[in-house]
Amino acid sequence: MRLETLAVHAGGRPDPGTGGIAASIHLATTFERERDGSYPRGYLYGRNANPTRDALEVSVAALEGGAAAAAFASGSAATAAVFQALDPGDHVIAPHDAYYGTGKMLRETWSRWGLQATFVDMAAPEDVERAVRATTRLVWIESPSNPLWKVTDIERIAAIAHGAGARCVCDSTPATPALQQPLRLGADLVMHSTTKYLGGHGDSMGGVIVTRTPDDFFARVKALQASLGAFLSPFDSWLAMRGLRTLPLRMRAHSEHALCVATYLTRHPRVEVVHYPGLESHPGHAVARRQMTGFGGMLSVQVRGDAARAMAVAGALRVFTRATSFGGCESLVEHRASIEGAGTRTPDNLLRMSIGLEHPDDLIEDLAQALG
Ligand code: PLP
Repeated sequence: MRLETLAVHAGGRPDPGTGGIAASIHLATTFERERDGSYPRGYLYGRNANPTRDALEVSVAALEGGAAAAAFASGSAATAAVFQALDPGDHVIAPHDAYYGTGKMLRETWSRWGLQATFVDMAAPEDVERAVRATTRLVWIESPSNPLWKVTDIERIAAIAHGAGARCVCDSTPATPALQQPLRLGADLVMHSTTKYLGGHGDSMGGVIVTRTPDDFFARVKALQASLGAFLSPFDSWLAMRGLRTLPLRMRAHSEHALCVATYLTRHPRVEVVHYPGLESHPGHAVARRQMTGFGGMLSVQVRGDAARAMAVAGALRVFTRATSFGGCESLVEHRASIEGAGTRTPDNLLRMSIGLEHPDDLIEDLAQALG
């Protein structure tokens, strides 16, 4: 089935008890055991598995073309489960422009658990090859990457990872399965923060790991989901699944609107540079064209001037809301360097924009008055 059809139907069927078309939210924390001690319906205790969470996991796995998925309480919890499934002494190669929280987690938390990490420019495959060690077990990709929306050649990096005997994991949060399917390009696992586009309405936090094959490594991730307890709640699973049903349509609109806004900004005299993979001028455009079916709703703009000028532009916007995060219906703007804090590599004059579902002309008019 095609993506739009899968998005509407995967993991969902009329409720066998009532015929209800919308999925039910199963709040039970524990499930009945038979006289002989068995659990013929497959459910035992809410931390191990829950029917609503199962439905979401089946839906996301189907959209990514994967074998199975595990849903966590946030994208960060999902990321942590992957690193925690490694052994002390294992080496990870990660992009130096990965989501700030992912880099911080590797540097500050997993280093204390004995994980080694090397940070490289993922847009330069030679750097990845050079970083490989005998102990390399995982190559973490994020594409397009936050906040410069640099594009990683997933097929190429997955091949390098496999040549080194390592797994390739792709954080595909900004792209979503509607625009990019890393498992089909050779990645072994895909990670999403469902807090963003998958949920799509800014009202639910979550994360998910999808695997290409149900192997031992994924079994470890799944075991961590149950034993450490950072699983996704039934209500958040339901909200994420409701978001998935309209994902392909929303991503088409986000991509169209972002291209309109990015094109407008490239022509503005008070703009220094626009970072959007859909622009031909973007260094990752050719690779993005090859591996994505659209370029998404995220862009960043460096305004002419310093941090104060960037803050002033954000402060003058009326349709955009100043807030972190992305992927909801409403457009957001954020001065990224100040939220990342000390040690950030993000330029001072950069504003990150999550282009929402408003009419793009309203967004452009808002930017015109704010840039002056
Ligand atoms: N990955 C990316 C690309 C993100 O932007 C974020 C959050 O902003 C995360 C992972 C972490 O997700 P969460 O905030 O749901 O923990």
